[in-house]
Amino acid sequence: MMIIRTIAIASLVYACTGFGISQAQIQADSIAAAVPSTYADLTQFKWMHGTESCKQDKDPKLQVVQVNANSYVIRQNKCVTFEAPFIFVLVGQKRALVVDTGANESPDESPLYAAVLSILETQQQSTDPKQILVVHSHSHGDHVKGDSQFRGMRGVEVVGTSQEALAEQLGLSNWPNKLATIELGERQVTFIPIPGHQEQSIAIYDHQSGWLLTGDSFYPGLIMVKGWQAYKASIERLVSFANDHAVSLVLGTHIEMNGETHESYSIGTTYQPKELPLALSLDDLKDLNRRLQQTPKPQKLEFEDFIVLPMSRFQKMLSNLLSSSAEQKQKIQAHPINNG
Ligand SMILES: [Zn+2]
Repeated sequence: MMIIRTIAIASLVYACTGFGISQAQIQADSIAAAVPSTYADLTQFKWMHGTESCKQDKDPKLQVVQVNANSYVIRQNKCVTFEAPFIFVLVGQKRALVVDTGANESPDESPLYAAVLSILETQQQSTDPKQILVVHSHSHGDHVKGDSQFRGMRGVEVVGTSQEALAEQLGLSNWPNKLATIELGERQVTFIPIPGHQEQSIAIYDHQSGWLLTGDSFYPGLIMVKGWQAYKASIERLVSFANDHAVSLVLGTHIEMNGETHESYSIGTTYQPKELPLALSLDDLKDLNRRLQQTPKPQKLEFEDFIVLPMSRFQKMLSNLLSSSAEQKQKIQAHPINNG
């Protein structure tokens, strides 16, 4: 079990300080950051997972978990959004990469920008403030809504989710064949196009931690696939990338799977006491690839820890709606970032 100590950080609010099993040790009225003496093991870590009655919910809005010296995973509260998406913060020497911004715009519902600032405050080794680069696993609303908290802030660049923006700002031209690697300052990350769940889905590989971030394209839950052939090709491309790189964990952006029944919780549930841990393994990804290669036509594929399901026509329509409303809010920023 993690033992925590608290350190005073004036600007941090309680809502940003959840550390799972250790939350009870944090006083609700304390203005403090929790620092784990040991880091969370994502293959086992039990996240806050909603409450039977949301009226009685006492969980923080965001659960911020430090996983190694400079990497953090954040989960939204299921009683704020049943999607409870995960958000990743990878801190380099010069800038921090924020992957996804969650399902809520309002800082009252999801104080993500404040949480990222407080992380950077604990990480600051020099007097130069770090730049923040915000990217998205894909453009569905539950992963981009918090963008509004970041836009216009000093030292922040928010990357758009359209193909044009990904080419211009990340260097992902010749979609989906070209990868792009950027430098965060003694920490490199590579972006890998993986259309299928959505046309502009990307995976992110962190060369330092070995994490492969797969968004909604691969996670312990009901994975909805819009473009079957594109998805097959993407998973194959991901596996071939992983064969050439050390992958420690495969991390998606939701947990929906019941670890006892190995069925997915029903959509909209706000309480998942038996949910699986977040991390999947490279072997899981390889299993999926093998089955996909044997499955020429869209069909449901069931595995112990995840299920792949082709979208119906109605679901595809809904997916388009979710993406377009999110994209309308985005403005492509003029200057491309430095590709390493
Ligand atoms: Zn999602």
